[in-house]
Amino acid sequence: MSENYIVILAGGIGGAKLIKGLAKVVKPEVLKIIVNTGDDIELFGLKICPDLDIITYTLASLVDEEKGWGFAHETFNCLSSLKNYYDTGWFNAGDKDLATHIYRTDLFNQGYNKAEITNLICKNLGVKSHVLPMCNESVETYITTPSGTMHFEEFFIKYRCKPEILKVEFKGIEEAVPVKGILKYIQNAEKVIICPSNPIVSIGTILQVKGIKKTLSQVKDKVFAISPIIEGASVKGPADKMMKNIGLEVSCVGIARLYKDFLGHFIIDNRDCDLKPKIEELGIKAYFYDTIMSNLRKKIELAQFVINLKI
Ligand code: GDP
Repeated sequence: MSENYIVILAGGIGGAKLIKGLAKVVKPEVLKIIVNTGDDIELFGLKICPDLDIITYTLASLVDEEKGWGFAHETFNCLSSLKNYYDTGWFNAGDKDLATHIYRTDLFNQGYNKAEITNLICKNLGVKSHVLPMCNESVETYITTPSGTMHFEEFFIKYRCKPEILKVEFKGIEEAVPVKGILKYIQNAEKVIICPSNPIVSIGTILQVKGIKKTLSQVKDKVFAISPIIEGASVKGPADKMMKNIGLEVSCVGIARLYKDFLGHFIIDNRDCDLKPKIEELGIKAYFYDTIMSNLRKKIELAQFVINLKI
């Protein structure tokens, strides 16, 4: 029996764009957003959850729209001083952002778990959607390059995704169990929407949390995804490079193959419309639309398109 809410699987920046649109076309209260926490990192003794923060700040209308992360009108005074003491100044933590990390770390030290802390942050920032970390356990993504192994955030920010990728590892993923309620929410949702997020280090991480992939495959008729790959390349970020590295075809068809066990419907970009038959050969219903969400209107239009699609 489906209930009156929509489950979303999301990473950071790509996910937040669609979520911004979705929160304008349905009531934000009906969104249950399962967020990747594989990018989480501890720096300056603080617990940092980059994807959770991007989604939360976006829903609170506090995000820096231009950058897609952090607070709007941010200052970086504390980070400048932290550089006197740490060599991790490459992490762009603004002053307002650091307040979130301090609050989160304080709550962790008091014994709260990640889901409880996320609820409190959302409540304090006026977020009405239900934002859930994929798990409470610590999972950290490491990238092996020819010059060594580094945290995903270091690869992403400090090295701007430039080094060759030899291996992607999710440390702690074996112990990860979904936050209470996630599997039931997937089973009972009206629709499940997989954002155009990184298929390896955002959606891929969520899918490796015990039971999530299997539960999605049991309800595949109501699972929708939007391709993060357009004309054989990512819109932004290393998704294309990562797909190539693990031997996947870098195209929306490659994404469809990766998701085929649990995907019922796939929205590809207009520019890839000739690939629709190849996706339908996999038993997935395919649709094409303008999926570049370069402004609020386009985020809303894509969100409305996905919401209008029938199961
Ligand atoms: P991250 O965790 O901040 O890297 O963000 P996500 O994992 O949520 O999203 C990254 C992915 O979003 C990349 O693979 C991009 O190709 C994709 N992406 C970003 N903007 C857009 C967009 O406007 N349209 C589509 N279709 N994909 C996008």
